[in-house]
Amino acid sequence: MTAAIISGKQVSEEIRVEIAREVQELAGRGVQPGLAVVLVGEDPASQVYVRNKEKSCIELGFHSEVHRLDAATSQEELLALVDELNRRDNIDGILVQLPLPKHIEEKAVIDAIAVEKDVDGFHPVNVGNLVIGDDSLLPCTPAGCIELIKRTGTDISGKHAVVIGRSNIVGKPVSLLLQRENATVTMCHSRTQNMAELCRQADILVVAIGRANMIDASFVKPGAIVIDVGMNRLETGKLAGDVDYESAKEVAGHITPVPGGVGPMTITMLMQNTLTAAKRRHGLE
Ligand code: NAP
Repeated sequence: MTAAIISGKQVSEEIRVEIAREVQELAGRGVQPGLAVVLVGEDPASQVYVRNKEKSCIELGFHSEVHRLDAATSQEELLALVDELNRRDNIDGILVQLPLPKHIEEKAVIDAIAVEKDVDGFHPVNVGNLVIGDDSLLPCTPAGCIELIKRTGTDISGKHAVVIGRSNIVGKPVSLLLQRENATVTMCHSRTQNMAELCRQADILVVAIGRANMIDASFVKPGAIVIDVGMNRLETGKLAGDVDYESAKEVAGHITPVPGGVGPMTITMLMQNTLTAAKRRHGLE
């Protein structure tokens, strides 16, 4: 059996059509969602991510601002900008591109973003709301994973989901979102024993490790949904996931490719969060 490919690119395009339609409707009410992205320094990967976010904003009719700050910017200067954006009426979402230079404490910056404008979903109040099941802005990559699983037509409820990785930005929130959808969730990490055996019990396998091609067919239950979050740059310059796609696709029922799987969903969910934040702020949800 060869797995059906879950195209994040295609799903992303479908969601963007829905977002663009809603943006048009909001324009009729005099509201334009606005996203401010702050980039400190000149990390090449961050520059690419920021450009893509700016491009998406323009394509979807959002107000877009990119604040490119010198690498030597002090924490106080950055916090002052965040404070100004928190109070600005034409800004619904604020994203400070990570990683920040070493002299700036990331936590202090994330904590300073207004909860209702935290479109990355990293603020402790949004994380806490996710844990207790209250309304919150969801972290983008995990929300994208759930959307991809749902668009296979699979009912997540009652399924056994195994998540490999327990980072704050991917593994932990993905497992919380899967629980919210009534999956039975097992979390694996670097100290897990018998990981292949656990993974082979998974109806849904989400992999977020950061090691190229580590998870091959021997980890996959026949017919399972495999979501590969990994983005690893090989020496050849090519991008590879954490899943050995060629072998896993022979066993899985559905699988995401890298590139073109989870990656495109992350920015689309950021746009979705900014739209949600705009609607909430204007009482239009
Ligand atoms: P991270 O913070 O480094 O976390 C990696 C997790 O993998 C940790 O929980 C670690 O366990 C676990 N791990 C490491 N080696 C392992 C092993 N041999 N067996 C089992 N578990 C192991 O990474 P992350 O930020 O979650 O990112 C993971 C991957 O997703 C990376 O490739 C990253 O580039 C990618 N990513 C992609 C997107 C996207 O938009 N597509 C967004 C974010 C991240 P311990 O906790 O025990 O150390």
